[in-house]
Amino acid sequence: MGRKIQLIAGPCSAESRKQLLDTASMLSGLGLDYFRAGLWKPRTRPGCFEGVGSRGLKWLAEVREKYGLKIGTEVAGALHVEECLKADVDMMWLGARTTVNPFMVEEIACALQGTDKYIMVKNPVNQDVSLWIGTIERLMSHGISNIGIIHRGFSTFGGTLYRNAPQWHAAIEVRSRFPELTFICDPSHMSGDRRFIPELSQKAMDLGFDGLMVEVHENPEAALSDNLQQMTPDEFSTLVSGLKIRENSSEDVKYNNALEHLREEIDEIDAEIIGALSRRMKVSREIGRYKSSSNVSIIQPSRWEEVIAKVLDKGTGEGLPREFLLRIFNAIHEASVSEQNKIN
Ligand code: PEP
Ligand code: MN
Repeated sequence: MGRKIQLIAGPCSAESRKQLLDTASMLSGLGLDYFRAGLWKPRTRPGCFEGVGSRGLKWLAEVREKYGLKIGTEVAGALHVEECLKADVDMMWLGARTTVNPFMVEEIACALQGTDKYIMVKNPVNQDVSLWIGTIERLMSHGISNIGIIHRGFSTFGGTLYRNAPQWHAAIEVRSRFPELTFICDPSHMSGDRRFIPELSQKAMDLGFDGLMVEVHENPEAALSDNLQQMTPDEFSTLVSGLKIRENSSEDVKYNNALEHLREEIDEIDAEIIGALSRRMKVSREIGRYKSSSNVSIIQPSRWEEVIAKVLDKGTGEGLPREFLLRIFNAIHEASVSEQNKIN
């Protein structure tokens, strides 16, 4: 048994009293921390089901009453917040289409001023980490400290396997800014397809996320929104019991000794890398001075092609991924060119 993770599940949208209560009944007993259901649905195009609105609040209250589950929904403006506070909703989240808009975030933060309710922030639709961080900061500046962060992936132009690209490194960057906040993954909106939810959930656990928000519907095929990505309660139960939860640390002395040793080795290698980069940059500056005094242009495409071919050949021969080598050496080249540009 691993550490306890935070579990949030429920339908994308509340559709009817019966659908909500049936789903909650099937989910009760699975150890949920919060039952979710969207009431006001931010649909990208008009003409789709846009949610049942405020009348769903009493159905959610019934779920809490009947099944002892805490309840949560999405808020996208001050009016939603006021309705939720009146109904004493336990958790509210700001969706991806709200986090992109600082005006809306500010309005919501004002309406929530000083609340101790659990307020969750999804990443913005696009991969703009500053907007995500800014939303959390705005909430904090309004005296809100019980905050959770939700990673639901980023929209990309062009086809990808998942509906929203995970770009885990961006999420990890935000997490490192707010290590005290609960950080969870929403594999439903990330995948867009329930078949991929288990692999994404496991990946989130392997990366040390604190929990999951998963869309679950008593009859996903008939769902009025996001029908492809919602799971049945049975599938959700199988998902949760199959998760391998990693600990944040271990007490095991052998493990800790081995890790300490290896980390020292990593620190030494990092120092060598910095030393090599700095030596390379010095040589590059010297080349820059020669180019400048002989009036030769900085960028020499044929030379760069030669360099990249050599490092790819050597690097892939050492088992390093080609993509990784390209990223690293393109960054080195860019920095070199920019240094040479400073010489005139
Ligand atoms: C949702 O959780 O139902 C939702 C609309 O999500 P997102 O804001 O991530 O698109
Ligand atoms: Mn949804």
